[in-house]
Amino acid sequence: MPIFHECQRCTACCRWPGQVRLTDAEIARLAAFRGVSEHDFIQQFTRLASDRRGLALLDQPNGECIFLEGENCAVQPVKPQQCRDFPNLWRYPDAEKFCRAVPREVGEEEYVRLVTAATGRTPEEITALLTQKS
Ligand code: SF4
Repeated sequence: MPIFHECQRCTACCRWPGQVRLTDAEIARLAAFRGVSEHDFIQQFTRLASDRRGLALLDQPNGECIFLEGENCAVQPVKPQQCRDFPNLWRYPDAEKFCRAVPREVGEEEYVRLVTAATGRTPEEITALLTQKS
């Protein structure tokens, strides 16, 4: 049975060191949401990814995501796919040490419905990923 991890919105993953890679489409959406040009968004909110292939979101000086405001994501409606996919479609090996998402065994149909809603991906994508895993 697949396991769905229900996010508790504790924001620990937004404080975890790492990098959030951005696609061109995500940069365009984020810039529009912030009401700035893509050029200004890139200057203000991104850095070169560690492998120098593409851009990633800047961190705050304390290592938190640049868009974490208190307990909230300031770009929640347009947050990058990498953020949306965690913790169901990718996880750190020891993620349970900090992630408070509640694991729940569910049927395949419900898993596809829940992960589709959580990630914004299509049911077809989730079904394909599920098939790859089994
Ligand atoms: S995915 Fe996990 S660490 Fe991130 S906000 Fe949800 S419960 Fe917290």
